[in-house]
Amino acid sequence: IGGHPKPQAGPTKPAGVDRIIAVGSGKGGVGKSTVSSNLAVALAREGRRVGLLDADIYGPSQPRMMGVSKRPGSPDGKTIIPLQAHGVTMMSIGLMMDPNKAIVWRGPMLMGALQQMLGQVQWGELDILIVDLPPGTGDVQLTLCQKTQLTGAIVVSTPQDVALIDARKAIDMFNTLHTPILGLIENMSTFHCPNCGHEAHIFGEGGVRKEAEAIGAPFLGSLPIDLDTRLAGDGGTPIAATDSPMAEAYRQLARRFIE
Ligand code: ADP
Repeated sequence: IGGHPKPQAGPTKPAGVDRIIAVGSGKGGVGKSTVSSNLAVALAREGRRVGLLDADIYGPSQPRMMGVSKRPGSPDGKTIIPLQAHGVTMMSIGLMMDPNKAIVWRGPMLMGALQQMLGQVQWGELDILIVDLPPGTGDVQLTLCQKTQLTGAIVVSTPQDVALIDARKAIDMFNTLHTPILGLIENMSTFHCPNCGHEAHIFGEGGVRKEAEAIGAPFLGSLPIDLDTRLAGDGGTPIAATDSPMAEAYRQLARRFIE
């Protein structure tokens, strides 16, 4: 893993993969990885063949969130066999690296690693491959949008202005690269106090829906701040894999992609 990307003729797609959907945010920490893993699991529970590629190369969270730590095998030294977790075929750069070491790579190495993740991993037959992007608008996003036949991108944001400002930049990047915006998701919309039932809008209210309306993109839904979601992610079993009410919220979100 690493090295320089090979020059390619045009955008490609792993053989056998039907749709590739990138999940981006502008800002980190808004729940992009949480939404990616839960959406993947929810789609799998709806009977779809789903892959999850953790392309958040600087801070790969999916091994922890999906509860996998095994290094993927490479029987011939060329192809990489992805792992299976909660009904999802998954691969993360984090599984090939020492989790306690920082990845200090320049753009070409990042782009090479991403292309290996897409080209050498044996994804098999998939209806949907979800790609959890790093935050921001850098080399990984650029490579993915230009070298891969993406169906489109989802942008996750909290309703807070500082997150929305960065989400707008991500949207602008996808527009510039002619990647269709499939929709916006508002994460951490509300908080229901478990003691008194009061509903608080900790990060503001409705900002992402307004943004979607302003740019003419679909608003896909909002997800509350939820302790069980955080605990489930930290524990390696995404909340969508459980029978919590949040699992139903993710299933509803997933159905919007397979209507
Ligand atoms: P990003 O991928 O945007 O950096 P993460 O998905 O890693 O964000 O989420 C950041 C932190 O917030 C994680 O600890 C995650 O468990 C938590 N988190 C994300 N979404 C929610 C939510 N809806 N409710 C509670 N905690 C959440």
